[in-house]
Amino acid sequence: MVEPEFWNREIETAPAEKIREVQLEGLRRTVAAALRTRFYHRRLKEIGFTSPEDIRSLDDLKRIPFTTKSDLREAYPDGLLAVERDDVVRLHTSSGTTGTPTVIYHTRSDLEHWTELTARCITATGAGRRDVFQNMMTYGLFTGGLGLHYGAELVGMLVIPVGGGNTRRQLKLMRDFRTTVVHATPSYMLHIYSRLEAENLTPQDLSLRKAFLGAEAYSESTRRKIEGLMGIDCYNSYGLSEMNGPGVAFECIFKDDMHVWEDAYIVEVIDPASGDLLGEDEEGELVMTTLQREATPLLRYRTGDLTRIRSGVCACGRSHRRIARIKGRSDDMLIINGVNVYPSQVESVLMRIPEVGTNYQIVVTKEGALDRLTVKTEIYSKMFTGDAAALEALRGRIRELLKAEILVGAVVELHEPGGLPVYEGKARRVFDERVGEQG
Ligand code: AMP
Ligand code: ZN
Repeated sequence: MVEPEFWNREIETAPAEKIREVQLEGLRRTVAAALRTRFYHRRLKEIGFTSPEDIRSLDDLKRIPFTTKSDLREAYPDGLLAVERDDVVRLHTSSGTTGTPTVIYHTRSDLEHWTELTARCITATGAGRRDVFQNMMTYGLFTGGLGLHYGAELVGMLVIPVGGGNTRRQLKLMRDFRTTVVHATPSYMLHIYSRLEAENLTPQDLSLRKAFLGAEAYSESTRRKIEGLMGIDCYNSYGLSEMNGPGVAFECIFKDDMHVWEDAYIVEVIDPASGDLLGEDEEGELVMTTLQREATPLLRYRTGDLTRIRSGVCACGRSHRRIARIKGRSDDMLIINGVNVYPSQVESVLMRIPEVGTNYQIVVTKEGALDRLTVKTEIYSKMFTGDAAALEALRGRIRELLKAEILVGAVVELHEPGGLPVYEGKARRVFDERVGEQG
């Protein structure tokens, strides 16, 4: 059995009371910073908060209203800036689906805290200074690339900051420098696998041991599939630019859901419809509060991500609680002929079927009054033998397995490897063509 390793053992294993103490101090600091922003100054005044002393206990957080993505858009570009512009050293913006940007500013100290959190995450997976880390996430305004970069350097890994895309070059770098750890989206990792053959390679030609996979929702069966195909360990990595980026929550060597750094964030889970607070193990929308951030403090930010806070402790000894694998975003849910379907359910079924390849798409259209679900999936080339009956049987089997899981009949289309579009960053899987452009 591998022994858990720690970057900052003292805080990572601190008793719950100690973490709550740190949270209370952090919350007061965050409220103080928030009061310096135009946006929160007004909002907090409305509920009678004019000083950090108004936070007497962690329970007082519940009196503060939620912050939403549209609040962030409204406050663009500097309504949420809590420090002098000269003290800001970096910003990240995200454009989101509607194109209205949001911005998060960072001071020197914000970046140092963020780096420390990512160093903890990397160490929790057992990776360290002996590793060669190839960062396949896009560098730039998207936080995926720069996010883990500095933490990886801090723990002393050899970092290859290649960024996203150009699979051939990725594979060459992996071979030339004997990369042991990669950071990528799960969809890009599947794509890498699918390109090995064309480059006359097998996973055994690589030195890869681990992958940090995140930035998009994926199922446990996708993790297992990638682990099996590549012969590596995959760790789920959760982050969002509003909460810095990667480094928010990460799996440890036990791969049993993701520890959230509770000295840096307060996590809550709410019913997305009513806003009511839910208990541990109850699934709902994740709400997060920053505790360490100076430049852009955020109070009770509604992430839109569906998960639950795990009760119980992890075998690694970290006291910071875990959140379950993200099921998707609350706005990802498709209603197909009245039935609620999450894309992650479809993915989970597909990735359990051995003949199914590494790429898929979900398309919803209107056929008269009814919705029609089409699932397009690549299958391995060895299936295209000219045996039409075998293909038909496979299509039937996929349809049945899908129906058993999502209770909706689907049209299944089988595609050859490389037949569906590839995304270098976050994959686009769902095409809801019923009313204009959605999903
Ligand atoms: P961005 O702010 O562009 O980095 O996007 C953040 C969003 O990506 C999150 O709110 C999630 O919806 C999604 N995301 C990031 N990491 C994961 C993960 N490990 N599992 C599922 N969704 C994720
Ligand atoms: Zn653990």
